[in-house]
Amino acid sequence: MSDNREAELLDAVPGGLYIAGEWRDAEDGATFAVHDPSTGQAVKDVASATVADAVAALDAACEAGPAWAATPPRERAEILRRTFDLLQERKEDVALLMTVEMGKPLAEARGEVAYGGEFLRWFSEETPRIQGRYGTNPEGTGRMIVTQHPVGPCFLITPWNFPLAMATRKIAPALAAGCTVVVKPAGLTPLTTLFLVQLFEEAGLPAGVVNVVTTTNTGPVSEAIIGDPRLRKVSFTGSTSVGQKLLQQAAGGVLRTSMELGGNAPFVVFEDADLDRAVDGAIAAKFRNIGQACTAANRFIVHRSVADEFARRVTERVDAFRVGRGTEDGVTIGPLIDDRAVQKTGELVQDAVDRGATLRTGGSAIDRPGSFYAATVLSDVAAGSDLLREEIFGPVLAIVPFDDEDDAVRLANDTEYGLVSYVFTQDLARGQRMMERIETGMMGLNVGVVSNAAAPFGGWKMSGLGREGGAEGIHEYLQTKYTLTPDP
Ligand code: NAD
Repeated sequence: MSDNREAELLDAVPGGLYIAGEWRDAEDGATFAVHDPSTGQAVKDVASATVADAVAALDAACEAGPAWAATPPRERAEILRRTFDLLQERKEDVALLMTVEMGKPLAEARGEVAYGGEFLRWFSEETPRIQGRYGTNPEGTGRMIVTQHPVGPCFLITPWNFPLAMATRKIAPALAAGCTVVVKPAGLTPLTTLFLVQLFEEAGLPAGVVNVVTTTNTGPVSEAIIGDPRLRKVSFTGSTSVGQKLLQQAAGGVLRTSMELGGNAPFVVFEDADLDRAVDGAIAAKFRNIGQACTAANRFIVHRSVADEFARRVTERVDAFRVGRGTEDGVTIGPLIDDRAVQKTGELVQDAVDRGATLRTGGSAIDRPGSFYAATVLSDVAAGSDLLREEIFGPVLAIVPFDDEDDAVRLANDTEYGLVSYVFTQDLARGQRMMERIETGMMGLNVGVVSNAAAPFGGWKMSGLGREGGAEGIHEYLQTKYTLTPDP
């Protein structure tokens, strides 16, 4: 990958706030630097919005709201579809930009462009299908009419780990439903969202429908937007602790909320599993995005009779990984997002080892520029270890043995989270029992990756509220009205 191409691409990405269809500096001229986690070097400065900028962005969303809600669904759909097409034309650029600002290997960044792009296409297809219903009331004395309406201006907050997909998964259904939005991308990875907005602009999106505020002034900026009585919805993807804070703030305005929060996914391997398939699934579920996914398998709960063989095979695969900058050919493990993540991963591994886990491979930071931690496998992880309770968010595969099915279910459900679970068994009835007994919003039964734009993504328990994607995704941005008329 030529440095020139990267430099030109970074240069071409606007570094301003996008408000009312215009690129602007922050009101006070403040900026902050975006870093490449594989080198630790700053790659670009972007504007850091003030509270006044945030209010201006909401002003723009409110002003554009009525016209956008009244735009025929087919026209809204066509803008989403054109954005999808433009993204396909520019997919190599978006992928490279994500690798530079977030660190994931280029092949995975291309995968995210494919996945993230699908939300634009899926919701363009859902737009003309927003339907109500009409019917006679049970008494036969009138007609009941149920209609769907956009909820109004929305505030969308996204995390750094999937810079494109987390943005399209929120923006596309909001626009499809007829809502206007203010987007606040993660400060660590704002460039992909800024790039995406250019594509919306090129696709003909009217000014003010999408507004973007990048900022380091996160708390005050979001409080100002959430506390404004004109806002009608907050959609957030990020940590459970921040989600809880936002829910409290949203209570003031009785706002609609969607919360995609943390996970602690169990990955259960029964003694009758196809072990080749389970190992492939494990590698994908654990090491995709260098372990920094809310859907990452966090606890490998493996039947005692196959636990050693499973550990041996995953270790063999991990030892063949290639570490490096995501742009280099064949790299499978890029950097973690920052040094804090390296430190936290190290602490979790140390705690598990101190409590008696066997370190099969990895187990330390990698001594090179950037924020690298070696892919790690731990077996016989003891109950009570911190990494069984907390989201690891790093490349650490932790194995806990179990003895029978009830034991597996108890371990799988022993968490405050319930986002996704993975189960590997060749026994159909057992698979069905797991589907019914595990407390989870999503399940991969003999597969290690479940996300799909056509499916409802979201969690149970502390993993969140609401769904993104699927037919359900658009309803998060619609509100229902019921009208009664007399019998004609
Ligand atoms: P984070 O909660 O620190 O940040 C997420 C976003 O919230 C960022 O844009 C951040 O700037 C913003 N934010 C932080 N403090 C805020 C505040 N006080 N008010 C308003 N906004 C604030 O999370 P992160 O480290 O960026 O992302 C990792 C977390 O996200 C993990 O817990 C992961 O499981 C979760 N996640 C969940 C999903 C899902 O769909 N369930 C998807 C991806 C990531």
